[in-house]
This record gives sequence, structure tokens and C-alpha cells, in this order.
Amino acid sequence: MSEIVKFTIDGKECQGKKGQLIVDAAADNGVYIPVLCHMRDLIPAGSCRICTTKVNGRYMAACTTPVDEGTVVENDTPELLDIRKAIVEMLFVEGNHFCPSCEKSGNCDLQALGYKYQMMAPRFPYAFERRELEASTPKIFLEKNRCIFCKRCVRVIKDDQGRSVFAFKGRGKTLQINIDKKLAANLSDEMAKKAMDICPVGAILRKEVGFVEPIGTKKYDHKPIGSDLKNIYQ
Ligand code: SF4
Repeated sequence: MSEIVKFTIDGKECQGKKGQLIVDAAADNGVYIPVLCHMRDLIPAGSCRICTTKVNGRYMAACTTPVDEGTVVENDTPELLDIRKAIVEMLFVEGNHFCPSCEKSGNCDLQALGYKYQMMAPRFPYAFERRELEASTPKIFLEKNRCIFCKRCVRVIKDDQGRSVFAFKGRGKTLQINIDKKLAANLSDEMAKKAMDICPVGAILRKEVGFVEPIGTKKYDHKPIGSDLKNIYQ
């Protein structure tokens, strides 16, 4: 049986399993730490850093740092909130995100975080990268301009033999998300839907079923991100 440890988040006394990731232990204690790349029970990627917290006085990603007896976590402080806001701004300027015309608007975690942190004009210059839309697979549009490199699709969407349907290509400024056309040709409707659902932005869209959910009825149209912890862990 896992050892139960006590720790605090912003002074609130919490309990978790020794070694459990802070972000999951926090959610189990009703504390919201934002995530974009993280999904419970997946191998952590630690790529987006939106869950940056202070753990025993040091900046750490809560999605890769385990909890231990007496761990002191700072989460909801003006400094950390501004760091997270800056990360959201960087993600917006790095890609091309046009929320009003995106099918994922209202269901998009990045957009919801933009609202949460009251992002107005980003403090960083836009990169205006141009990445081609990949529309040649039967069930999926891959809008590479919106990818935030969270790696969720790479880690989750696999064929029967465990091969990833999505993969990254390039490095640095040339990094792009790609789809294996052969594997994608055999993707079931269920997996195509799952790919769209787990993508935290509108980079993966299903073909033939666009805009089925009217604006005003979507996940974050009802409740802001973080107000319902179930919402953030599919
Ligand atoms: S396509 Fe979506 S799920 Fe895949 S890495 Fe990009 S943002 Fe993440």
C-alpha cells in the first residue's frame, strides 16, 4: 500500500501518496494547478511549464515533481500567476491562434487560460510562423499553426501495435507536429475523436463533423477553467 504523506499548498494542509505528482495530489485535494501538457496516468512530459510552482522554495513543474512528507508548495501567488500569464502569452505569440474562427473555441484550454490570466496584448512579439495545414488523412485536419507542442497526441494516440500516429519533426523554430499518413488511414472514428478531445488547443480537428457544438454551450462557456477539477483531467 502507498505511504500517505502530508504536505501543504499555500498553507492548506493536504494529503497524498508518497511519490504522487504534485499536480495530481493537488487536484485530489481540490486545489487547481493549471496544466496543458499533463494528463493523469500518462508519462509526464513537463513541456509546457504552465504548472510552475515553488516547491520548498524552488521553481518546479508540478507535473514532474513528486510529493513527499512535509513538502511546501506555493501555487497561488502573484509572482507565479504572472509567470503563468507570461507562458500563456508566449504560447499565443509562438503559434497562430485565431480564436473566433477556431472550432475548439470554448473547449480550448489555452484560450481558457488566456481568460483566466486576463491576457490582453501579449508582452512578446508575434513570431508569425507559417506551418502547412495537413488535410490529406481521412479523418483528421492537422492545423500545425495551433500546436503548442504538449505531446499529448504523441503519447496517447497509438495503433494496435503501440506505434504513435503523431510525432514531432524538426527542432527549435522548425519543430512541427506531424501525422503518420499510413497509420492515420486506419484511425477509427473513436480514436479520431479522442485525438481532438485530448488536444488542448484546436490543432487536431475531425473531418466531416465540424462545428457540431454551438458557441455558448461548450465546456468553458459554462465554467471557467479550474472551477471544475474534473474538467482538466480527461
Ligand atoms: S497537436 Fe495538439 S495534442 Fe498534439 S502536440 Fe500539438 S497541441 Fe499537443
